[in-house]
Parts: sequence; C-alpha cells; structure tokens
Amino acid sequence: MVGQEMYALCGKMFPYCRSITGDGVRATLKALQEVVPEITVHEVSSGTKAFDWTVPKEWRIRDAWIKNSSGDKIVDFKKHNLHVVGYSTPVDKIVSLDELKSILYTQPDQPDAIPYVTSYYKERYGFCVTQKQFDALTDDNYHIYIDSELFDGSLTYGELIIPGESEQEILISTYFCHPSMANNELSGPAVSVYLAKWLMSLPKRRYTYRFVYVPETIGSLTYMSQGDHLAKMKENVIAGWNLSCVGDDRTYSMVATRYGNTLTDKVTENVLGFIYPDYKHYSFLKRGSDERQYNAPGIDLPVCGFSRSKYGEYPEYHTSKDDMGLISPSGLMGAYKVMQDCINALEYNRKYKVVCLGEPQLGKRGLYPTISQKGSYDEVTAMVDFIAYADGKNDLIDISNIIGVPVKNIWPIAEKLVKAELIKVVD
Ligand SMILES: [Zn+2]
Repeated sequence: MVGQEMYALCGKMFPYCRSITGDGVRATLKALQEVVPEITVHEVSSGTKAFDWTVPKEWRIRDAWIKNSSGDKIVDFKKHNLHVVGYSTPVDKIVSLDELKSILYTQPDQPDAIPYVTSYYKERYGFCVTQKQFDALTDDNYHIYIDSELFDGSLTYGELIIPGESEQEILISTYFCHPSMANNELSGPAVSVYLAKWLMSLPKRRYTYRFVYVPETIGSLTYMSQGDHLAKMKENVIAGWNLSCVGDDRTYSMVATRYGNTLTDKVTENVLGFIYPDYKHYSFLKRGSDERQYNAPGIDLPVCGFSRSKYGEYPEYHTSKDDMGLISPSGLMGAYKVMQDCINALEYNRKYKVVCLGEPQLGKRGLYPTISQKGSYDEVTAMVDFIAYADGKNDLIDISNIIGVPVKNIWPIAEKLVKAELIKVVD
C-alpha cells in the first residue's frame, strides 16, 4: 500500500524539470506537501553566502531543440528534459556539424542512453543525446535553439520539524535537483515524506525529527548556514541519514560517517545486518551525496548515507535509463522499512540492568510458557539471553548484536521485563 503510494508519487514528480534552483524544485516540494502539508517552503536569494559557497542565479528553461537542415526537430527538450545541459544559457543560431558536435554529450558505452550533464558554475550551453542520435548526424548545418534564462532569483528548500518528548533530534535529509531520474532523484524524497507521515501518525515520539528537502550540495550548505540551523543541529542531532537512490530492488548500502563510529553507523549496521546481511558497507571515502556536507570538519554531524543501489554504482546512474522502470513499489518499501527499523531501534534504545542476583525465576512471574512450543521457546531464549547482558553497560543495539536477535524483537521483551520489575532503565 505505502509502496504503491510512494511509487505513484515518484511517477507524478518524474516529468518535472528540476535543477538546483527554479520551478521544478518548487513543483516537487508542492507534490511532497500534498502528502505532508506541514512541510514549510523557504526561498533564499541568489547571491546569499552559504559558508564558502554562494547561492547561484536561478535557471529557467522554456524550450530547446535542434533542427536539421530540412527543418525537422531531431532533438527536443519537450520530449525528454535530459536533452539540455543543466543551466544552459540561451542560444539561437545555425551551426556547422563540427560546431554542433562540440556541444553534444553522449554516453558511448550505453548507446541508447541520454546522459545527465550540468554546468552550474560555468556559463555555457549544450545538448545531451544518445550515441545513436550522434552517429546519425550527417547534415552540413543545424539550427540550435535554447530558450532559457539565468537571473537573480532564489534557491528553494523544504523543512519539517516533528516534535518529540526530547529536544534531541534525528535528521533525515534528502535532495532533488536532477531532471527526470527516478532512483537517483525521486526515491529519496518519496521515502522521506512517507516516513514523515508515519512519524506524525504516532501517538508519541521520544525524539524530535528534522526533515530537510534541498537541492544537493548547495542546498544542504545553504540550509545549514541559514539562521541558527547549524547551531541547533550541532546541539541536538544524535543520528541522521541522507537518503539517496532508495528505490530499486538490487541491494542495500550505507555510507559510514567520517570515522564510522557514531550511533547512526551502529544502528544502520545492526538493522541492515539482520535484513540484508550482504549489504554494501562503504567507508566515508566512497561518499558522494550530502553526507559530505553533514560530516565535514567543524560541522561533524553523525549522518550516514543510506541507499539501495548507491549512486555511481549502478549502470543506469545519471542517464535516461534511471527511469520509472528501474524503481518499484517493493524497492521503495524495502528502504522505508529499513528506515522504520532504524528509527524504532533508536526510539527504544536504552540501557537496562537486571535487579536481582542470579537468573530470575521467570515462571513465578508468568514469563515462562507453561507449555513448550517452538515459537514460544525462541522468545524465552531471547529473554534469558537479553537478561544475561542487561548489566547496565549495553544498550539494546549492543545486546541485539551480542545475542543475534533484531532490536525489534527485543524491545517488546524489555518492556515486558520492565513491567514485571525485573529490569530497570539505567541510562
Ligand atoms: Zn546525481
């Protein structure tokens, strides 16, 4: 059900022509607000400083095409928005075949794919075409046309704070700045917004949740540099993830924090270890998305990257092949469930200490099944193993790692034992 809804949301957002600024980003945020209206949208003017960076000019594109000498449109932005190099300046002129070829980008190893190319920080124009389209060019002259503008506008981001009992925060950040690409671009926002919807539906939350929706790199830098965001995050964030490429069915992966030793690393490794033991564990040296900014020296937030097939590691990455056929309801749902397990593990993560000496007598407290059956026995084993390590030193995730039982199967036991006054919370 949720998987289908996330997939449908991706399909709706797929055609929008996103970039790091502009109306595609605004339309995407609007689609997310239809799921969670509480997301607030903010605009930051071009030219605003964002640490060492500056918010760029806003880019707007209306149309773009290449016509051959017979006047036929052989490349058309309206058919696929990847055909134009992102942030292309306007142009309207007749060019020779050689000049045309100098502004065309192809993916030679994937002759049917249109590559994704941008030029944010140097003004130029260009087109992206399949290698097959490129090889079919034989006319002497072509008409190239791009109706675009770069102007002082703004960068747009979305934010959602869901309060909990504690001011301590869990950060979930994701980005949208590429045009029509499904796994790289839309899976993260879709999973993130449905996680927000789920968290808001809970009767209570231990932690406060900060959801951030930004264009990649410049957006996370701009977000952190606005107002007291960074100070608040440094004070309160105990764990966080950057969600990217979470929509396919092939694998699961995580990118560790800078030193790989935070609570986020610990909980992600624990949860993935039970759900998909063959998951790919990338060190921070394999980073590539906004975990770069959140982990940078001086910022030092405990943020891991979480993906299914990670950016740069799948053949469709940054091409027109990253389409709605690459992602699936089950792929999105798998990522959603991993994040739910991670969040629940943190919500219930406590240190416990058993209050009696020696093994407690479970039978007299009604905690030991009076008839022996396979399933009930597993729970008893988990219970006595849990008690054996409830010495006040280990949190629930540590005990899960030691006894080989997922956190989600241990916390109901812990609650039962607290109620029976056999263990107490000591953190
Ligand atoms: Zn990308």
